[in-house]
Amino acid sequence: MALFPAGFIDDLKSHADIVQVVQERGVQLRRSGTAWKGLCPFHGEKTPSFQVHGERGFFHCFGCGVGGDVIKFIELFDKVAFPEAVRQLAGRFGLTVPESADSSKNDDEEARRERESLLRAHEVAAAWFREQLTTPAGAAARRQLKDRGLTTETIEQIGAGFAPASREGLKTRLLKEGFPLGGLLRSGLLVQRDEGAPIDRFRNRLMIPIHRENGAIVAFGGRAMEDGQQPKYLNSPETPIYVKGRTLYGLHLSKTSISRVKHAVMVEGYFDFAQAWQAGITNAVASSGTALTPAQARLLKRFASKVVLSFDPDAAGQQPVGEALGADVLAAGGGEERGVGGVGLLPGVGDRADEEQQRHDGVRDRDAQPAPAPRLALGLRRRRGGVQRRGRAGQGRRR
Ligand SMILES: [Zn+2]
Repeated sequence: MALFPAGFIDDLKSHADIVQVVQERGVQLRRSGTAWKGLCPFHGEKTPSFQVHGERGFFHCFGCGVGGDVIKFIELFDKVAFPEAVRQLAGRFGLTVPESADSSKNDDEEARRERESLLRAHEVAAAWFREQLTTPAGAAARRQLKDRGLTTETIEQIGAGFAPASREGLKTRLLKEGFPLGGLLRSGLLVQRDEGAPIDRFRNRLMIPIHRENGAIVAFGGRAMEDGQQPKYLNSPETPIYVKGRTLYGLHLSKTSISRVKHAVMVEGYFDFAQAWQAGITNAVASSGTALTPAQARLLKRFASKVVLSFDPDAAGQQPVGEALGADVLAAGGGEERGVGGVGLLPGVGDRADEEQQRHDGVRDRDAQPAPAPRLALGLRRRRGGVQRRGRAGQGRRR
């Protein structure tokens, strides 16, 4: 019998940093390529054959053959059973363990099926939005994307689409695909007001799919098409598959690059991300205008040891993010230090001059190109279009 909902275990594993967990138990690790190496705590040895892979979340010893995920490590190291290891880990990383009283096997199975159904509904919706973007009704949305300087390739990479003004377009498609109405309401793709029939939540909006870092689409952001259309950005509500504070926009695309350079550039919105990506800044993530949460800091810390902010000083979204960069977030993210394994955030957030300097530093640091590179980030707001095509990103860092 499963004691915990499968989704919770997935969540827990994605938020727990296995390198940190191992190090906290006194195992000395040194970085070696993409892995961490040390003396195996499970058998006596003089040369390190114990490896921990932070990004992929597992450990393995080539000496004694022991290995597994972060929960397995705690089970073996602390000599506790699986449920206890899960509770310890959840406690360490600030996740609430779901009540086990009602997590009978049937409920687990049902919750798992519901999550799968929600994920599939989002896939279908994303495909439908992309389709609509190519229709005559999508012309204004295509123009909006072009006005932001995005190329067809970038538009495809971020999966942008269009939700037409109709009330039942997506609903009709999803019902035809066999999704139950109740599930669709829970997905947030449909809304029901008062006694009325459920209708599409997103109408007449430019649609941006929001992915989990593994690539699954879990939500949407919809930008208004008309002046005065409120709200300007309409997002999916939180659902069993989407917790806003645990998601960083763009990470599914940029995590490889971030892992390589150990350093992320944080921008504000979807389109800042898209413009950065197109300009060859492949290690960006977007906060989507909210405060950086401890869970987001932990998520980022799996890939980066340093975060550089690249915000428009005049932007409305700056303030909450600035507030979030306080001691709380850093402490919760385990990153008080700038060093290895911590999310280090540059000081002086909130000061315009400092921010200019940060953006300057951030990209220069990443690109190691003195002249044109800094302008990539500095000019994100001002310039239309790709300043540089990809390619620069492939060069990585000089050390
Ligand atoms: Zn071993």
